[in-house]
Amino acid sequence: CFCQLSGRIDECTCNIDTVDHFNNVKVYPRLRSLLLKDYFRFFKANLKRECPFWHDDSKCAMRYCHVQACGDGDVPVGIKGTAKLKKEEKEEDTCGGSDKELDYLNKTISAKMKKDLVMWTKYDDANDNFCVVDENDEDAEYVDLLLNPERFTGYKGSSANRIWNSIYLENCFRPKSYYSLYIPSSKLNSMCLEERVYYRAISGLHTSINIHLCANYLLSHSNGLSLTDPKGEWGPSLVEFERRFSPETTNGEGPNWLRNLYFIYLLELRALAKAAPYLEQETFYTGNEAEDFDTQMAVKDLLNIAKQFPNHFDETTMFTGSAQAARLKHEFKEHFLNVTRIMDCVGCDKCKLWGKLQTKGLGTALKILFSQKFNQKKLFQLQREEIVALFNAFGRLSTSIYKLDNFREMLEH
Ligand code: FAD
Repeated sequence: CFCQLSGRIDECTCNIDTVDHFNNVKVYPRLRSLLLKDYFRFFKANLKRECPFWHDDSKCAMRYCHVQACGDGDVPVGIKGTAKLKKEEKEEDTCGGSDKELDYLNKTISAKMKKDLVMWTKYDDANDNFCVVDENDEDAEYVDLLLNPERFTGYKGSSANRIWNSIYLENCFRPKSYYSLYIPSSKLNSMCLEERVYYRAISGLHTSINIHLCANYLLSHSNGLSLTDPKGEWGPSLVEFERRFSPETTNGEGPNWLRNLYFIYLLELRALAKAAPYLEQETFYTGNEAEDFDTQMAVKDLLNIAKQFPNHFDETTMFTGSAQAARLKHEFKEHFLNVTRIMDCVGCDKCKLWGKLQTKGLGTALKILFSQKFNQKKLFQLQREEIVALFNAFGRLSTSIYKLDNFREMLEH
């Protein structure tokens, strides 16, 4: 048990089997085919940005860390074109103001006032963001996610430790005077709801990343392959899974980390259901009319399923009331923004790509759940990269829950 249908959102009442069945039978097969569509398979990311926090000289030498960026002709013109169109609109905004929210003012105010208003609208948008949204990043490249699957890369040791340490010890809420990396469930109760939600979401993301590397492990011991061998054979490693999650090897915490996977799954599911009216209006434009229509239908179908699940994550109970709540929300956002920046310090390009995608997806979900604009039904906008990240990040969590079932079966046998 890991969540509640009413009351405090992270208390126990709902049943893991319910989520397993819902995910494995309804959500996972739909997402699997949706994420093959062109709109969702090309993700734009800058993998060359310098680590802003420390000097990182740990470039991963493992061939499985390599990411193959798309060539010029690989990405559908419609995808590149929309980005271009948005850029042009944006430039127009700064001089003339085509933003619908500002239209009514156009005739009555001076150019200087309009410029100020555009600036404040942008300021509000940036304030709503839980991660850096940088559309005009010159070094960002498109990557075909299907050609660069998330799996075991061999990334570990001091570089990987430094990332997780920095996330948990410096950019997470913690009980006072508690310095161990993970927070045992007994200590979690001394933290307030918002702090627990933050920790459990990060821990759930960590769990998902580690389940993927266990489910797509390089089976080197069985067939003599090594990390430098060009031909890898990938498959589930029960030994690796047990090492990472069994109570015996994790001071009893492994099962809690697995529960946190379900927690973040329900958080992102709630964000999708909440944003359904907005996402159902999207065109998912790639330039291929037939495929775009299929994508719209497949998204609507998935969102209908997402809406069917009972309202398990009630975000309205968070950040309510006092001035302290506003401060907490600010801290929550600042911590998470830093986590997204830390992704630039990951020393393995493949891990960095998927780390960036998943933190951006979680950041987009948080934006949907907590942004003022969304809650006040004002003009709300998501960039293409945010939508791609949101669905793919949820796809990762859904796949992890599905793979977890495989591991359970393997354990039973
Ligand atoms: P780690 O996973 O590094 O964990 C460090 C410590 O954190 C553990 O000892 C434990 O105390 C605690 N901990 C572990 N799990 C949790 C949890 N769920 N919640 C709370 N605390 C926990 N490797 C790949 O092979 N492929 C990838 O695609 C990949 N992507 C990565 C992406 C990012 C952003 C990062 C930072 C790392 C990635 N890695 C990837 C590396 C991988 O996550 C591990 O760091 C690595 O395999 C070393 O594992 P470890 O046993 O030292 O424990």
